[in-house]
Parts: sequence; C-alpha cells; structure tokens
Amino acid sequence: MKFDPSVKIHDYLVFGEFGDVNPSITDSSTFTFLSTEKMKELFEHEIEGCFLYSRHWNPINKYLSGALARFEDTGSAQVTSSGMGAINCTVMQICNAGDEIISSRTIYGGTYALFKNFLPKFGIKVNFVDITNLDAIKKAITEKTKIIYCETVSNPLLEIADIPSIAKIAKGKNIKFVVDNTFSPMIISPVRLGADIVIHSMTKYINGTSDCVAGCICSSKEFIDSLNDVNSGASMLLGTVLDSYRAASILKNIHSLHIRMQKHSKNAMYFAENFKKLGINTHYPGLPEHKQHKLLNRIMNEGFGYSGMVTIDVGDEEKANLLMIKMQKANIGYLAVSLGYFKTLFSSPSHSTSSEIPEDEQSKIGLSKSLIRFSVGLDNDIEESFGRIKICMKELNII
Ligand code: PLP
Repeated sequence: MKFDPSVKIHDYLVFGEFGDVNPSITDSSTFTFLSTEKMKELFEHEIEGCFLYSRHWNPINKYLSGALARFEDTGSAQVTSSGMGAINCTVMQICNAGDEIISSRTIYGGTYALFKNFLPKFGIKVNFVDITNLDAIKKAITEKTKIIYCETVSNPLLEIADIPSIAKIAKGKNIKFVVDNTFSPMIISPVRLGADIVIHSMTKYINGTSDCVAGCICSSKEFIDSLNDVNSGASMLLGTVLDSYRAASILKNIHSLHIRMQKHSKNAMYFAENFKKLGINTHYPGLPEHKQHKLLNRIMNEGFGYSGMVTIDVGDEEKANLLMIKMQKANIGYLAVSLGYFKTLFSSPSHSTSSEIPEDEQSKIGLSKSLIRFSVGLDNDIEESFGRIKICMKELNII
C-alpha cells in the first residue's frame, strides 16, 4: 500500500487497544453498559466500538473479520465456527422455502450432502450443473433461483470456474453468486471478478496449522449486517460463532499466508510436472494441458502460483491405497483429509471427502476410486521428497 498522508492512521495501521501489535483476545461472553438506553440502542442497530454479547460480535472476531474483508476486498466479513457454518449461514440468509440454488456438481462432499440431502427438508431445491458449461447454468435458471454456487478451484477435480462470466449471468437477476475460495486464497479474488459473496473454510490454507476448524463469509456490509440482525440474522440465530482464542491465533497465522501460498504452489508444480514426466495421469491447473489453464492465467492474481492441490490417478484402486500407506511410512506426509498443512496430506476423495457423492455421479464427473488428492506441503527439499514417492511407486509397479 502506498503512503498517503491524507489517510488517517487507523485506516491502514491495525493494532489493539493499547497499541498491542496482536490485538488482545476477548475473554468475555458478555459486555457491560453504563446506561440502559445504550443497551436498547445496540439491540436495534450496530454502534461502532460497542459490543453486546459474543455470539453477536466481539472485538477479536471484528479484528479478524476486518483483516478478511481487506484480504478479499469486500466491504465487510464475518467469521464462523467452521466452513460449513459459513455455507449454512449464507444459504439460510438468502433462501426461503420454495427457492432454488444452482450449484456446481463438483464441490466438497459435505457441501454436496448439505445441498442434496439436507436443504430439501426446508423446501430448498438444488440443481447441480457442470459449472464449466455456461449454457447449462443459463438453462438451469428459473424465477425461483436465488443462488449460483461454486468453488473457485473445485474439490477434488481442480476445475476452475469462469467467475467473470458466471457473475455476468447472475447480475441483474436477483441471484447471488456465492464462491467457495478455500483452495485458492490470495490466488483468486472472486469479488473483484464479480462474485457477490466469498466463503472460506479457514480450517485449510488461511489458518494453515491444522489445529482448528473455522470459516468466514466476505461480502458487502449490507449482507454481513443482515447476518447479524438480532431478529433475522442467520449467524446470530444459528449460533455459528468462532471462539475468540481461535480468532486470535488465525489472525496471527494469516500474516504468513502469502509466503505459504507461494511455497505450496511451487512445490505442487514440482509434483505435477514430475508426475507427468513419469506418465502418471495428473490434474493440476498450473499444467498447460489443464482444461482451464488459460482461463486461470487470465483471472488469477500474479505471484502466488496455481495453489498446492494436485490429484493423480494411478489407475488401480488397490495400488492407490497401498501407495498412500507406503508414502506415509516413508514420511512423505500423512494419510489424512483436509489441506493447507505444512506437511503433505493425501487421501482418496472417492473414499473420504467426496464419499457423500453417489457412485454413479462420481463416475459421471470423472472421480475414480484410484484418484489420490495431494495437499502439497512446505517441504524445503521437494526434490528429495518426490524421490521417495518415486521409490514407493516403483515398489508397487506403478511406474
Ligand atoms: N469447502 C471446501 C472446499 C472444503 O474442502 C471444506 C472441508 O473440507 C469445507 C468447505 C468445509 O469446511 P469445514 O470443514 O471448515 O467446515
């Protein structure tokens, strides 16, 4: 940011109440008032610097939300107790019984299960489409459509959504375009590209230490304020508040996100290029043959690479399972779900994070049982780590 003497110090320098570089952790569920009138007023509308009750807002959650709003370039943001909490609050705030959602069919399995199995209980119908097919999106729109939903980089097939084109489709139709940006923080800024609401599972890259579950919603001040309305706000009424100790630790971890994303991406590119050289079927948006490689180059922020997620298909379910066990024994990383940790994590999406998607649907979208998803870690010597993967693959006759 360039120095501008006309800008007040508080607009660009953020610090705590006492000049503390890490704002204090809010250790209170409730807040005292010096007059009953002020308390009544705060129940009616937000007052800058005043807090009511921690499920509504508390200072450290405000600090973290402010950092996230600046980071996603939105007017405001709201932290939540999980990524699923963020998705639920957003959907519940926008949709009423009878409304419809158009969703990408390749999304995180938990979101898929929420959309397919849970939302119909409340009269909300979800139409799943191939999000890379703009005509299919247009065709699925009805007067009941309230949300178009997708992941920037889809889980686990790593398809890239054409955010500017989808935003154009949604504009002017009273449809909110909601993007889950969990796989590509820093790399893509969906609201700058026309999306209305950005969601993150902060459990992943944003926090980066795999020690907590958390989420966020970044959007206009108007939308975030609506989530916090004491009478009708989904965040206030569903109770998805983030614990303040966690908010404080995530705020500290965010400071290194740009460096971590560069390293995750660099290491993932190394894995992808070398898997490809070995003749392994590899999906990575940084490879020129990836279907949306050119699109991603057009919409991405420069300097953070193509994210740390790589998937390979070794063509045989049993070999895929044996390979993951071998790689764990060879200390390449952990056989674990989730992503964004400093160690490499690997799992078979078909048996874990996408198992909620029915088998026939999995095969339709190209999600095979021999697919392995890597969240590539921050290894300093990635060549050496890859060398050990090669040995594991040779022992199983994969290469
Ligand atoms: N969105 C994506 C893309 C995910 O991968 C996940 C979890 O794996 C979620 C949302 C849900 O986040 P959480 O586990 O923090 O509730």
